[in-house]
Amino acid sequence: MTREETYTMMQKKLSRLMPDFEIKFKADLAYQINELKKERNAIILGHNYMEPALYHSIPDIVGDSLELARKAAETDKDVIVFCGVRFMAETAKILNPGKTVLLPARKAGCSLAESITAQDVRELRKKYPGVPVVTYINTYADVKAESDICCTSGNASAVVESLNTDTVIFLPDEFLAKNVARETGKRIVFPTRKPRRLKDDLLNYDIIGWTGRCEVHEKFTVEDIKNVRKQFPRVVILAHPECSPEVVEASDFSGSTSAMVRYVEKMNAPQYLLLTECSMGDNIAAANPQKEMLRLCSVRCPHMNEITLEDTLKCLQNMQYVIEVPEEIRIKALKPVQRMLEIS
Ligand code: SF4
Repeated sequence: MTREETYTMMQKKLSRLMPDFEIKFKADLAYQINELKKERNAIILGHNYMEPALYHSIPDIVGDSLELARKAAETDKDVIVFCGVRFMAETAKILNPGKTVLLPARKAGCSLAESITAQDVRELRKKYPGVPVVTYINTYADVKAESDICCTSGNASAVVESLNTDTVIFLPDEFLAKNVARETGKRIVFPTRKPRRLKDDLLNYDIIGWTGRCEVHEKFTVEDIKNVRKQFPRVVILAHPECSPEVVEASDFSGSTSAMVRYVEKMNAPQYLLLTECSMGDNIAAANPQKEMLRLCSVRCPHMNEITLEDTLKCLQNMQYVIEVPEEIRIKALKPVQRMLEIS
């Protein structure tokens, strides 16, 4: 695609979202990135939370963590640029040890991934011998390496059901664990380092969770939902399963980011509100001009927002920041990731 074609393509998608001079500026960056991508024999994977100009210009594949993990496993390119956060790039490296995996911003972390360590998992295993450990994909490689199987928000319930056991250790997202428990009919308990008056007969319960939280999704409240419904009585509200069970209950639909995209595309409502990172609303609006998206943009993910077109260009120019996973950890982490991909 030429520079001019890149601009025209982006203008078609983004002209309702941003002024023309901004589109021109971003299109120039996107053009340079796409040229370098060819030179480096690279693929760009873009998470659904990327800002609209990036999302609609440079990724070869867009999607949620599960879809991107699958695509990362299939690529034959030499270089994978992950426009997402560190744990996603690590998952790509776990699946592709021979390839160069790059993350455009060094600081793109995740509050969930930070909430638990490999030592925490080992201690839980000691406390509950024989109980299988499910870890959310939003964890670092050393935590995955201590697990039996991984899951994403798109397949968490299916992964838990697939284990056919009475008790599961589900880490580290408290709200996702509660939402999975509700969906699967299982009960839950939280044996954290600061237990909330727990008794020792915890194995009566079905899911043992952890109190990690997504710093974005924990902010949405039932009050927000009531206020929006008061002003827009026919709005359809979609909540990510990292939101609290009360918020999920008060919403019309809950699912992974890609499940939300599909749901909005097939529904016919006057307005939609996504309770997730605000860029998603922009991205859906850009792809579906007939859909009216409301946005609660005071709630943003600071980590996803670290990834910009400017940094992605630098990433390909300087081949930075290279993601490495020590081989003994990678081999151990590969099993739970592959096991997840096999069942979903
Ligand atoms: S939105 Fe939440 S779960 Fe996703 S990267 Fe940001 S902090 Fe982590």
